[in-house]
Amino acid sequence: MNVKTHTALHVLKGAVQKVLKAKWTASVWVEGSDGRLTVQHDQKPTPQELQDIEKEANYEIQANHPVKEVVMGREKAEELWGDAIYDLFPIPEGIRNLKIVIIENWNINACKEEHTKTTGEVGKIVLTKVRFRDKKQLLELSFSTIDLERQS
Ligand SMILES: [Zn+2]
Repeated sequence: MNVKTHTALHVLKGAVQKVLKAKWTASVWVEGSDGRLTVQHDQKPTPQELQDIEKEANYEIQANHPVKEVVMGREKAEELWGDAIYDLFPIPEGIRNLKIVIIENWNINACKEEHTKTTGEVGKIVLTKVRFRDKKQLLELSFSTIDLERQS
């Protein structure tokens, strides 16, 4: 699991939520510097919306906000954030403690993976392919992360 690309999923999700009001993540995929975020959505986004998503995600990276992690009991987490911490794929009932990833005012999610300490470490997000699956009401956003330090 590439930590930067995985963290990019959280940054991108925040942007998708802001621009499209799409709440539910259906699935995620990461391989090296490539990733794909699939969210539940009821219509094909416009080119302008896609541009805005990419722009907002990269603003959040440039702002270099902290990516916080807290571990707490499931009940407590649900009390604080409700279903905002969950995705469409359920966490088994038997898991009673959750690691919550928090990018303040941007994204909150129960997630057991590792993350960068700040959004800035992600580098840059470029959307590479977008597919809307009308029948399933799913929007697939493929992206690459670019390591800015390595570029210069
Ligand atoms: Zn995560």
